[in-house]
Amino acid sequence: MPMSPFYRDRLFPILPEIEAQFGTPFHIYDEEGIRQTGLRLNDAFSRIDGFREYFAVKALPNPHIMKIMRDLGFGFDCSSIAELVLSRQVGGLGEELMFTSNNTSAADFEEALGKGGSLLNLDDITLIPKVPQMPEVICFRYNPGPRRSGNSIIGNPVEAKYGVAHHQLLDAYACAKTKGARRFGLHTMLASNELNCAYMVQTARMLLDTARWITSELGIRFEFINIGGGLGIPYRPEDPPFDLDCLANEIYVLFEQFAADQQYMPRLYMESGRFMTGPHGVLVVKAINRKDIYRTYIGVDASMSALMRPAMYGAYHHIEVLGKSGRSDAIPVDVVGSLCENNDKFAIQRPLPPIDEGDLLIIQDTGAHGHAMGFNYNGKLRPKELLLRSDGRVELIRRAETIHDYLATLQFEPQRFTPKSSCKK
Ligand SMILES: *Cc1c(COP(=O)(O)O)cnc(C)c1O
Repeated sequence: MPMSPFYRDRLFPILPEIEAQFGTPFHIYDEEGIRQTGLRLNDAFSRIDGFREYFAVKALPNPHIMKIMRDLGFGFDCSSIAELVLSRQVGGLGEELMFTSNNTSAADFEEALGKGGSLLNLDDITLIPKVPQMPEVICFRYNPGPRRSGNSIIGNPVEAKYGVAHHQLLDAYACAKTKGARRFGLHTMLASNELNCAYMVQTARMLLDTARWITSELGIRFEFINIGGGLGIPYRPEDPPFDLDCLANEIYVLFEQFAADQQYMPRLYMESGRFMTGPHGVLVVKAINRKDIYRTYIGVDASMSALMRPAMYGAYHHIEVLGKSGRSDAIPVDVVGSLCENNDKFAIQRPLPPIDEGDLLIIQDTGAHGHAMGFNYNGKLRPKELLLRSDGRVELIRRAETIHDYLATLQFEPQRFTPKSSCKK
């Protein structure tokens, strides 16, 4: 079921007032829902000592949301300098930050290792000599290649750009150890929006087996394994929710087996983004035009710059029209923005009740990889973000972009030079 009913029941009655106060379009998130999901996650894995979620910052990089994650005891998974800066601004420090970059630059390393440092999760064996100074703790991202199949968002591991190949793993850890690493972790991220518990359990099993193998070859212990993000959420009404208890119980069994033959239990880390915030956000837009040609088009006041997933992945986002849910007179429409691209559609041939100008449409499950994926093509500006607080207040947590933001990069000191080898007239 899309969007939690708990959020829906509290949000829908107050939407007209929120619209009157802030205007559309906006993403609005639910503090209480995020907190409850976080507590459920911590609770499910509480039997594994040192369990920690590193919230994947790219899913919802807003400091007001990230402070909620800090309250829950979470760390942050970052893959860019900006994400590290944000995480440190909300108080994340040292090993509370996981730096999972790929195609890493010298500047990335400098930021990751400076200012209190972070947990380095290296994406390739050739990066080892490029690390300015080998930290005490090092993790590698493992790409199992043909040993596993992926899923549609991340793709087949053989074709994925991420991670260290199986045949390079032993060399990678041996080399890091030679260079001074003393504590070790093992990471992978194979699937995205995966609703099948068994797939994620298989990922944990693969990491533990790989850790056993590396231990037997090199004699190093693993302080943690990190199963990545990728837990799915039900975007479609017929989708089942992800079975978190199944995952936690089965992983605990695997950890106990590991402890029995290895005489220790590693920590378990994960870096969920979507699972933490996806169902706790919606994009609220207003119908401003209706057009009947070969199909019926409902034009709304936001475009794909506010939510790329439908255009980028063909992703389904459930839509309700405020005050018109549950009616039986639905007709198929395309819900579109104003960008000059024909894939600028929030829904295609979606049965929706008759929509009048001024109706509010609630595009659901935009709490992860929603606003964050926005862009400025065609001069489209990103909308504001609001937060429904647990105490019932509604707070602006990011203003809408303005035309000044759009023009800001055109203000600079003039620079011009003549290359020496250029032909002079
Ligand atoms: C994007 C990403 C995540 C989060 O993925 P979700 O599908 O949102 O859980 C976690 N880890 C890494 C390395 C990522 O790139």
